[in-house]
Amino acid sequence: MPTSKQPSASTIAATLSATPQPSQTQRSQPQPLALNELIDADRRYIWHPYSSINNDLPLYPVAHCNGTTITLEDGRQLIDGMSSWWSAIHGYNHPQLNQAVTDQLAKMSHVMFGGLTHRPAIELAKRLVEITPAGLDHVFFSDSGSVAVEVAIKMALQFWQSKGHPEKSRLLSLRSGYHGDTFAAMSVCDPDTGMHHLFNQVLQKQFFSDAPQCGYHSAWDEQYLDDFKSQLYNHRQQLAAVILEPIVQGAGGMRFYSPHFLKRVRELCSHYDVLLIADEIATGFGRTGELFGCDHANISPDIMCVGKALTGGYMTLAATLCSTDIAEGIAAGEAGVFMHGPTFMANPLACAVANASLKLLLENDWQARVQQIHKHLVSGLEPCAQLSSVAEVRSLGAIGVVEMKEPVNMAVLQPLLVEKGIWLRPFGKLVYTMPPFTITETDLKQLLNALYSALSDYEKI
Ligand SMILES: *Cc1c(COP(=O)(O)O)cnc(C)c1O
Repeated sequence: MPTSKQPSASTIAATLSATPQPSQTQRSQPQPLALNELIDADRRYIWHPYSSINNDLPLYPVAHCNGTTITLEDGRQLIDGMSSWWSAIHGYNHPQLNQAVTDQLAKMSHVMFGGLTHRPAIELAKRLVEITPAGLDHVFFSDSGSVAVEVAIKMALQFWQSKGHPEKSRLLSLRSGYHGDTFAAMSVCDPDTGMHHLFNQVLQKQFFSDAPQCGYHSAWDEQYLDDFKSQLYNHRQQLAAVILEPIVQGAGGMRFYSPHFLKRVRELCSHYDVLLIADEIATGFGRTGELFGCDHANISPDIMCVGKALTGGYMTLAATLCSTDIAEGIAAGEAGVFMHGPTFMANPLACAVANASLKLLLENDWQARVQQIHKHLVSGLEPCAQLSSVAEVRSLGAIGVVEMKEPVNMAVLQPLLVEKGIWLRPFGKLVYTMPPFTITETDLKQLLNALYSALSDYEKI
């Protein structure tokens, strides 16, 4: 066999590094897109929340986040005032949360939940039952808040069906409410600002009562309940459940209301045999100053939805909890089982990071932190109330709201906020903040000063 002289391995390596082959290098390692190409490609291919493909509103590519700082691709650093929509309560890139994800990743990132189960889900369900209001003893995991609301509504309907009351199939919700973007969830969002007119032909018709007119601290007057009471009474035979956001109505207007209202709603629902669904997707896990909104009024709903901050903003996960009465009722019904089962139900990575997030929350004095943030929100937002474009400022727990007289022009305000080094995402008339609980006093003061400064520049434009 002829043997030609083979070059040694080290000769090959030396040759390759001396004469790189550009075409091959390019093929195996595509150049990252330049910043302008990134934004162009985004605009060409992607929808963002509530966006049009034909807008040129400002858009900011993020390179990385750490603690309460968002670093943009262009190097600018922003103090985060949004917790990525209520969720990143411990800030970003948290060592303990990262560890929980990597530990779980080494075991399994996912496994089906039909016929199989796993520690992260069991531990999380047990923990949720322990910390939520008494009587919520069964947990259904899903992938997003909207689906948790769909599941809650389905639970209520299946419950009444199995009790022999299929006519109890409607919901009563509060105006200015927001419960998500899927169909059943949309049907209980505010009927005017929500999407009812667009999907009029397909949305289930529900009942609505006036948004609570009593602020969180208002002296209680039973008249605040007049409209709710008459809606509940008039439709009680058709009503499966009342659904509401306890204490804080979030995306529907950032409105705070009296615990007395919630307490009376609970009493009236029980009295008229209508279930109560508490949508705690925004209010859950300490944001309002209590662990759950329901805790302000010391009530237990029949069904509760949690999401958003459940995983500390790491993964998408939500849960619907219900009482034993509801679970037993469904089990005794015609179907015999609860008719829902997402593919990625109880995703182990998400459950593992949720367990770590709850541990962090409960082991650190979250209540003191939220109170501390609250104190700064009260004093830091005060100057904004003096601006002529501002209608009102208000705060509760770690939520601060500046309500403007007119809807804000995002094309103008968003870049102003970014120039001042803060990340806020106003909508409509509302410029609001719910910072991570881990924000430092210095950063929080800077956030609020920058907000004031941006708003005073804004009204001069
Ligand atoms: C955000 C939100 C939802 C919807 O959750 P998604 O995860 O966005 O589907 C439902 N209810 C309330 C109160 C929310 O704040």
